Amino acid sequence: MILPPSTLAMLGGGQLGRFFVAAAHEMGYTVWALDPDAESPAGRIADRHIVAPYDDLDALSEIANHSAAVTTEFENVPAATLAFFEERMPTHPSANAVAICQNRITEKQFLLDSGFPHGDFAAIQSEADIIATDNNLFPGILKVARFGYDGKGQAVVKTHEETMTAYLALNGEAAILEKKLALDCEISVVLARDMHGNVKSFPVAENRHTNGILDVSIVPARVSALLAEEARVIAEYIAEKLGYVGVLAVEFFVSDGRLFVNEMAPRPHNSGHYTLDACTASQYEQQVRAVCGLPLHDPRPHSASVMVNLLGDIWFDADGKIREPAWNALYAVPNLVLRLYGKRHPRHGRKMGHFTVVGERLDDALPMALAARRAIGISAGLKRGM
Ligand code: ADP
Ligand code: MG
Repeated sequence: MILPPSTLAMLGGGQLGRFFVAAAHEMGYTVWALDPDAESPAGRIADRHIVAPYDDLDALSEIANHSAAVTTEFENVPAATLAFFEERMPTHPSANAVAICQNRITEKQFLLDSGFPHGDFAAIQSEADIIATDNNLFPGILKVARFGYDGKGQAVVKTHEETMTAYLALNGEAAILEKKLALDCEISVVLARDMHGNVKSFPVAENRHTNGILDVSIVPARVSALLAEEARVIAEYIAEKLGYVGVLAVEFFVSDGRLFVNEMAPRPHNSGHYTLDACTASQYEQQVRAVCGLPLHDPRPHSASVMVNLLGDIWFDADGKIREPAWNALYAVPNLVLRLYGKRHPRHGRKMGHFTVVGERLDDALPMALAARRAIGISAGLKRGM
C-alpha cells in the first residue's frame, strides 16, 4: 500500500484532476500534476504543477523520480507516456486500457470482440470504407476516432455522400460511423476496481445532454431496477475484461428498452460528480484508494441528487460581454452545493463548474435543481419528460 504522505502524480490538469487532488490532499497525500496549461484547474491546487507536454521526457523522468504512483484524469494522455511510467512504478489505469478507450475504433472493436451490447458501426479509415458502408447505418453519426469530447468532431449524416463530405473535412483523421439510435434515455455507471479484482460501483446516473454536452445527471436513474442492475453488471464485466485498475465510467444508451454501451472513460466522469455530495465516498477518493492499493470504500448514496453543469455560456450577458453569474441565486437554494473549477477564461460550451442539489427523494431534489438551473440563466434544452 502506498500511504500518505506519499506523492501521487496526476496526468492531466482538468476539473476531474482537481477533485482528485482535493481528495488526495484530504487523505494526506502530496500531489504533482502534469498539464501543459499553466492555468490548469488541477495544476493550480497541486503541490507542484509541471507545465509541460505529456511526452516531455525530462518532465516524465522528474515525476518518476519523485512520485510513488501515477494516474490520469484524461484519456488522451499518450499511451507511450503511461507505458513509460508502467515500467517504473504503479500506474493505473494501464496504458493498454487507456489505449483501447482513447480510440473509438479500438473501443467499439473491443465491445464487439467481447460480446458487449453496442450499436451498429463501421470503422472509416478511407473513402473505400464509406463506399462499402451498409445503408442500415443511416441516419448515422460520423465521429472522429480520437480526441473528440462533448460532442465535438461529430456530424449527423444521412447518406454516403454526406458521410464523404464529413469525412473529407476531417483531413484524413480516422473516424467511426455509428447508426443513430432512438434514445429512451442515457445512463452511466461509474465504478472503481482494485488490483485484486474487487469492484465497487456507484448508483446508476441518468444523463441528459444538450447540444452533445452533459447538462444534467439525475441519481438514481429513473429506469427499472432490472435495467440498472444489468448496466452495473455489464460495466463490471467490462472493467474485468480490461484488467482495469482505477475508476472507470461506462456510458450507455437505452433504446427500445435495451442497453447499448456507448463509450468508456478510463477516469472519473462528469456524471459521477454527484458522488462528492450524495455518497459516503466520492469517485475521486476511490481513485486514490485504487491507485494506492488501499481497500476500496463501499460507497453508499445517502441522498438522491441532481447535478447541473455550468458552461461558460452563462458568463455572457445579453450584449455578449463577460461578467460573473449571479451566484447568490444558487446560494439561496437549500441543499445545493456549488463547485467552480477556477477556470479564468469562460467560453461557450466550456465546463466552468457544476452544482448538485441533494434531497431525501428525487421528487424534492429535481424540481429544486431545475429551478436553480433556470435562476442562474440556463435556458437551453432539456426536452422529453423532465
Ligand atoms: P463524447 O465523447 O463527446 O461524449 P459521445 O459518443 O458520448 O461522445 O456522444 C455525445 C452524445 O451524442 C451522446 O451522449 C448522445 O447524446 C449523442 N449520441 C452519440 N452517439 C449517438 C448514437 N449513435 N445514437 C444516438 N445518439 C448519439
Ligand atoms: Mg460521451
